[in-house]
Amino acid sequence: MKTMQFNDLHRQYLALKEEIDAAMAGAVDQAHFISGPQVARLEEELAAYVGVRHCVTCGNGTDALLLALLAWGVGPGDAVFVPSFTFFATAEAVSRLGATPVFVDVEEDTFNMSPASLEEAIRRVRQEGELTPRAVIPVDLFGQPADYFNIGRICQKNELPILEDGAQGMGGEILGKKACSFGTVSVTSFFPAKPLGCYGDGGALFTNDDDAAGLLRSLCVHGKGEYKYDNVRLGTNSRLDTLQAAILLPKLKALKESELMLRNRWANRYTQQLKGIVKTPAVPQCFYSSWAQYTIRLESKEQRDGLQAALKQEGIPSMVYYPKALHLQTVYQSVPCKAYDLPVSQRLPDIVLSLPMHPYLTEEEVDTVCAAVARYCHGE
Ligand SMILES: *Cc1c(COP(=O)(O)O)cnc(C)c1O
Repeated sequence: MKTMQFNDLHRQYLALKEEIDAAMAGAVDQAHFISGPQVARLEEELAAYVGVRHCVTCGNGTDALLLALLAWGVGPGDAVFVPSFTFFATAEAVSRLGATPVFVDVEEDTFNMSPASLEEAIRRVRQEGELTPRAVIPVDLFGQPADYFNIGRICQKNELPILEDGAQGMGGEILGKKACSFGTVSVTSFFPAKPLGCYGDGGALFTNDDDAAGLLRSLCVHGKGEYKYDNVRLGTNSRLDTLQAAILLPKLKALKESELMLRNRWANRYTQQLKGIVKTPAVPQCFYSSWAQYTIRLESKEQRDGLQAALKQEGIPSMVYYPKALHLQTVYQSVPCKAYDLPVSQRLPDIVLSLPMHPYLTEEEVDTVCAAVARYCHGE
């Protein structure tokens, strides 16, 4: 058996080779490398799939977060609430604009933003009175939508817009409503390892707000006005290449037709076999995950590190997502941020381990991983 991959993008390519090769050759042949027709087609298909009026593609997921905050005029003196247990870009975008990330704790079993911690953080920022609460960025971590029922209620009460960081979330659902439709603006990333990835960098924004969509389209092309050489505001250059859009079209089709179902099949198989041996990830009722990662929790750092080493010995790759809470990152010892009480975000980095997850796993591979985890945890 070929060595197991954590996320086997090569197997995906082989499965979709004919369509992807044709899409790439077609895009090169047309030689319309920026803003070619595939970009508009992808935006239409994504907007329809997610169920929002507008999709605006851009250079990457980090830019998408920045562009959304820029469109809202977020800057110095503003507080933006972000989970501390996520990929760095979620908070980086806030700090990049001179605003202050206020770190919020997460739920231990779903890894997503804790509504109670969010409510408390908003209350304390208001009470302290130095910063103006401006927005909340829940993350759909590891493919599962955040708790938008409760977060939505809190945001409504506090009149704060939601910027959904769906970088890992494409394909997730709550009650049939798709990820990337839960924010006033929502964003995703097409980084190759995400549930919907291209062959380089890429990202997109989603919104039902016509004005916001227009502003975003301007901001990602140098603040253009009526046409490209009419510059009415400061923007940036952040676009999705035609070639990447061409690659994403067949990949989106595969995501819809089989890959989401397969990711869920493997996640369920993991959970069936690992239940009672390790703590398996929770999927609340009415939630559907796109399983960007399948992440288990161990009892201690020693047990987690020991398991990772034991798996490696057997040729099984695993990853620690994420090894450090954001409020403890070096940069936030000097760049302004706020962190109140974050016990879960502080503990998770010691006990989490993500197992191989992608649509093209086999039953044998999943069973091999589960058997190795069970052997280690039973002390064999
Ligand atoms: C990947 C990721 C991003 C950034 O996306 P890029 O396309 O890599 O810039 C932002 N937030 C989260 C949660 C991510 O996982």
